[in-house]
Amino acid sequence: MAIPYEHAGERGEYIDSYYSRTLDVENEFPELTDQITAPVCIIGGGMAGVATAQGLVERGIKPVLIEGNRIGWGASGRNGSFCSAGYSLGADKIVKKVGKQHAKELLSLTTEALALIKKRIGDRKELRGETDGLLNVSWFDERAAVEKNIEFMNDVMGVDYKFWSREQIRGLYHSKRYYDGYLKGCGIQVHSLNYNCHAAKQAEDGGARIFEKSPAVNITKHGNGWKVTTEKGSIIADQIVMCCSAYIGNLNFRLSTATLPVATYVLLTEPLGERLKSAVEGPYGVSDNRFSSNYYRTLPDSRLFWGGRVSMFNPSGEKLKKIMMDDLLVVYPQLRGIKADVAWGGLMGYPAHKMPQIGELEPGFWYAQGFGGSGMTATVAGGEVVSAAIANGDERYKLFEPYGLDYAGKPFGPIVAQTAYWLFQLQDAYKAWRLNK
Ligand SMILES: Cc1cc2nc3c(=O)[nH]c(=O)nc-3n(C[C@H](O)[C@H](O)[C@H](O)COP(=O)(O)OP(=O)(O)OC[C@H]3O[C@@H](n4cnc5c(N)ncnc54)[C@H](O)[C@@H]3O)c2cc1C
Repeated sequence: MAIPYEHAGERGEYIDSYYSRTLDVENEFPELTDQITAPVCIIGGGMAGVATAQGLVERGIKPVLIEGNRIGWGASGRNGSFCSAGYSLGADKIVKKVGKQHAKELLSLTTEALALIKKRIGDRKELRGETDGLLNVSWFDERAAVEKNIEFMNDVMGVDYKFWSREQIRGLYHSKRYYDGYLKGCGIQVHSLNYNCHAAKQAEDGGARIFEKSPAVNITKHGNGWKVTTEKGSIIADQIVMCCSAYIGNLNFRLSTATLPVATYVLLTEPLGERLKSAVEGPYGVSDNRFSSNYYRTLPDSRLFWGGRVSMFNPSGEKLKKIMMDDLLVVYPQLRGIKADVAWGGLMGYPAHKMPQIGELEPGFWYAQGFGGSGMTATVAGGEVVSAAIANGDERYKLFEPYGLDYAGKPFGPIVAQTAYWLFQLQDAYKAWRLNK
């Protein structure tokens, strides 16, 4: 199946985005040109692969990580920067499928991962937003449902989400679209590309060997282990971990067909100066609760960083800027006339069940993929359970067993994803018409 590489840029280089324009972490890693051996070979240098490398070095194992392009080149270095607990699948649906206790254990992996990200950021404060806290606002006039949801999440996720009234919200975010919501006090905004490179350097400092522009082209059995062949070298490893997400191509049929590559987008405006205050005065990142939601944050130089949308048509350039700006103006019509600076997209790997796919395909062949649109923290949870399994025989990765490698609908995937998005938009519009009288 053809991957929409329109948003990939030249093979090996970062696309033009806010992140690549503000990349200021040491991030050069060599190309693999030799035959080498390693206890573990990780394939894919996004958040999932790098977190697995960190988890391994912290447990005394020195892996090799190969990245086909650059560290954080995929979704991990292009995303919306919202880092909070939970998965793409809502906590209520997880409880429904696996029961409350199992769901609590799954969700606590992400609260632990969020704490770990903060620890790994340490005193590199520039890697995260200035103010902790992410605000989730309701698009619908349904206060009781919002309150019930908060109570449920605080119980199941062990978090402390706080109710915000519509007056509080509209006092800082001047949109008539917003009703009540809640603040996730522990959520943070992260410069995802800088963080990804910082984390890779941490892994390297701990003894991992990292190679960029070294795509795996073949994986074969080798004795009791595996041989991973790259374009110019190879790795013989006892165990391998596949973390290629939506950019996997045809490297492994089973893993490749278990997720859909779904494209989503971000827009960066010009600096808005004083005009920003006519729309946004709050310091928190904001997302709304529609299926087809938008999320955004402000940057210190008064730009709006605006994300959302799903489209199989791969809009780019001026067309993408316009699509994203139109969404922004639905929420903040008072900003009509502002200019877009740059807009970009990236691919998320979505399983049909919307939960990460984490496990062992056959002895010594591990995978962590399918983090969908909530991968910042979940990838780190994945890296932790896989590295703990490899290093210590820990079995927490089995918590993900109910969410297997179901066929995700390729080659019709993009059409399925687009149609689902349109249906969700209709559902959102109908709900708003019904509730927001
Ligand atoms: C625009 C956008 C906004 C988003 N916003 C948010 C957000 O605000 N919060 C949130 O939590 N999540 C968000 N997400 C989702 C999140 O970014 C992903 O879930 C997460 O980054 C997935 O990480 P990953 O490591 O699994 O995949 P990726 O980051 O895509 O990494 C996969 C890597 O594997 C490499 N690779 C592929 N094939 C090979 C090969 N053969 N050999 C070697 N390397 C290979 C690729 O080059 C790539 O670098 C967003 C995603 C996008 C696209």
